[in-house]
Amino acid sequence: MKRIVLATLIAMPFICAGPGYAAQTDFLTIDTHVDIPADFMGTPAHDPGNDSEMQVDLGKMERGGLDAAFFVVYVPQGPLTAKSRAKAVEQAAEKFEAIHRMVLEYPDRIRLATRPDQVVANHKAGYLSAMIGVENAYSLGHDLNRLDAMYALGARYIGLVHIGNNGLCSSSLPDTEHGEPAVAEHGITGFGRKVVERANRLGMMVDISHASDACVRDVLEISDAPIIASHSSSRALRDHPRNLSDDLIRAIAAKGGVIQAVALGSYVAALPKRRAAIRALRQRVAEKQEQDEFDRETMADLPAMKAGMKKINERYPLPSVDDFVDHIEHIVKVAGIDHVGIASDFNGGGGLRDWQNAAQTQNVTEALRRAGFSNKEIAKVWGGNLLRVWRTVERVAASKQRAAAPPVHEEIKTSAPLQGEGVCSIHAGLGRPVNLHYSWGIASDCGIRSKSGAGLERKA
Ligand SMILES: [Zn+2]
Repeated sequence: MKRIVLATLIAMPFICAGPGYAAQTDFLTIDTHVDIPADFMGTPAHDPGNDSEMQVDLGKMERGGLDAAFFVVYVPQGPLTAKSRAKAVEQAAEKFEAIHRMVLEYPDRIRLATRPDQVVANHKAGYLSAMIGVENAYSLGHDLNRLDAMYALGARYIGLVHIGNNGLCSSSLPDTEHGEPAVAEHGITGFGRKVVERANRLGMMVDISHASDACVRDVLEISDAPIIASHSSSRALRDHPRNLSDDLIRAIAAKGGVIQAVALGSYVAALPKRRAAIRALRQRVAEKQEQDEFDRETMADLPAMKAGMKKINERYPLPSVDDFVDHIEHIVKVAGIDHVGIASDFNGGGGLRDWQNAAQTQNVTEALRRAGFSNKEIAKVWGGNLLRVWRTVERVAASKQRAAAPPVHEEIKTSAPLQGEGVCSIHAGLGRPVNLHYSWGIASDCGIRSKSGAGLERKA
């Protein structure tokens, strides 16, 4: 049944817009960093088709006019051992699968977009867009071929590192408790360099959010394509290692890239009392669970945590969208209007007093208007700049693929053409097969495999 509906929609995309969602603005709104819980699509509360507990679900996107979001395949940093890396590979595979399940389950509301033109087409046709970004390339399991697999699964940016150094890059927040130096002694590693080069060749954006300054400088030198910071704000306004100095902002812009300012309270403003209160609350919640450390994935939704956060929000409120727009204005002042965008970091710690979830997205647009941004400028900040960078990254990749032999990918010969709507399973070294929805142009992505011999099978 769903299949018939979908086929009709593909045939008449501009007549049959998705129900319940009408693009609210002339411009596209893109949020480049939305985390998903470990059990995304696994429980009613974490099903984005429902009025869910999550800060981003389809209804909130539709109501708030958030047209497109990068859903993030994040894994926490672990030890650099084979066993821990294998676990990270598995965790990433589960999140890829969950995102694909979302677009399979709700094809009349949200579509996977693996190319900038698809984001634009989805918006015109009245669909939301889901893109995929990877946070912490630790989940490559130190195997470059998995980058190809992730690309095939739709990932279009690769965040090199998270909290704690990994096998690619030093972190802006090193794991000093386990002996990592507070100031990075190195930037990118040999493997990290290969990942950047391969991402350039695949057409995947390289994301330096969470990287140390030394690593950002290395990436700027290595990458032949513009780079992004998928969720980082200004260090001049809020001195935090996760934010970017004016020098780095200028350098990223000079290479044509974009800084997606992040709406995470403690990166927007210092808030020492609020942070101390949250730390104490987390400690209490962890102790109650008989754990040494607070674990966001398993403890953030506990009633004690929620009740405690409610009190803290009343006593020490988060910054506002106007405070957030100060960061955007600062980046514009330093780098120009073409090099800034927006990321919420929702479900990953993000949120402001008046942008608590995707349903309140219009508040950001209003704050931009209050700050004097024109419609044309708002369009750039809300997604135009990101799409420009993405297109440039695609162009750089296309020229590299034309120039180089042998190609990164070889086509799989199938008796039937890989197009239209369907599902295929990818075994591309991600630990286990991951189902891939390949309607709307993903077909060519589905029809490739890495040279390492990672396979692909087609289901009817
Ligand atoms: Zn992050």
